[in-house]
Amino acid sequence: VTRPRILTGDTPTGRLHIGHWVGSLENRVRLQDSYDCYFLLANVHAFTTRAEQPGDIRRDTIEIARDWLAAGIDPERSTLVVQSEIPAIAELTWFFAMLIPYTRVMRNPTLKAELAAKDLGDHYSFGFPLYTVGQCADILAFRAQLVPVGDDQSAHIEMCREVARRFDHVYCGVPPTTLDDDYEKAGGIFPIPKALLGRVARLPGIDGVQKMSKSLDNAIFLSDTTEQILARMKRLHTGRQAMTDPGDPNNALFQYARAFMADQERVSELADRYARGDNIGDASIKAEVAAAIDALVAPMRERRASYTEARIVEILREHARRANTVAEETLAMAKEAMHLDFGRRTLA
Ligand code: ATP
Ligand code: MG
Repeated sequence: VTRPRILTGDTPTGRLHIGHWVGSLENRVRLQDSYDCYFLLANVHAFTTRAEQPGDIRRDTIEIARDWLAAGIDPERSTLVVQSEIPAIAELTWFFAMLIPYTRVMRNPTLKAELAAKDLGDHYSFGFPLYTVGQCADILAFRAQLVPVGDDQSAHIEMCREVARRFDHVYCGVPPTTLDDDYEKAGGIFPIPKALLGRVARLPGIDGVQKMSKSLDNAIFLSDTTEQILARMKRLHTGRQAMTDPGDPNNALFQYARAFMADQERVSELADRYARGDNIGDASIKAEVAAAIDALVAPMRERRASYTEARIVEILREHARRANTVAEETLAMAKEAMHLDFGRRTLA
């Protein structure tokens, strides 16, 4: 029996942070045995916001691969996919772009939120909204059933599900009344993928407001040192003034405490005192939370040191071959269904 597939990934716009861990990475590490996993480095999508920094994109592509390996992604069991090496993804993006209305893409709430948060106004590139269609192709090129992601991706996964259904209806004759789980059985090429949300689907950043984001300078990185973690925790904004001020036990500080401290009874006790303003300072709680985050990333530091850039590039080359085997198979099936059955190609 073949294992069901996972496709998910990250855009090389920076390094990975603790929001990635609770939102998706932790699930990826856990599911490596039960799924055939493909983890995508969305380097083409990084050009939608960083077209003028190709060197930075390359560096971050390597750094995210290093973050993955450090976090416990096993290159023997899982496949690391560099998006730019998989031509089938770009080709499927074209086909899928014709199956979804332009207005539907522009209504995507995550896309709108990104345009606002990244201050892209009305001067974003044509390719920026197109990345959402490209992401449908990322997932469907691997005919993935499951997509472990944070909550900001839910809208994108919903779009991907719509595109998969539509392709299967239009080109594979799958009846529109078919249940989502039965699309392949009914003759569809694409399964209708499901999102798997993480333990914390949206971790706030140290600004206390926005989601933690690698491009917003509000993150604690998996590659931070003990000192950097503490320094960033100190910057965390709670808005609280005195030890006797009642604090919000659901603010970013306590969301981190719940997400990362091993002793949850201790967290409840702290939250209780915090809410009452019972002579408890932000600084001491921040120090405890920083120690908990440090304990999470400490083993990653050791593994990180064992991967050189040369070794990472070698893994990415090897894995591109594995990934293309699957993606080319999907593309050939899709083209045949679309009556585009003129060629036969094999990627070396
Ligand atoms: P960028 O600022 O460039 O958009 P990002 O930090 O949002 O970067 P992505 O590469 O867009 O990171 O997201 C990678 C994955 O991590 C996605 O599944 C996303 O949902 C998840 N993720 C990102 N930020 C968070 C967060 N703060 N909490 C939970 N999950 C998150
Ligand atoms: Mg993002």
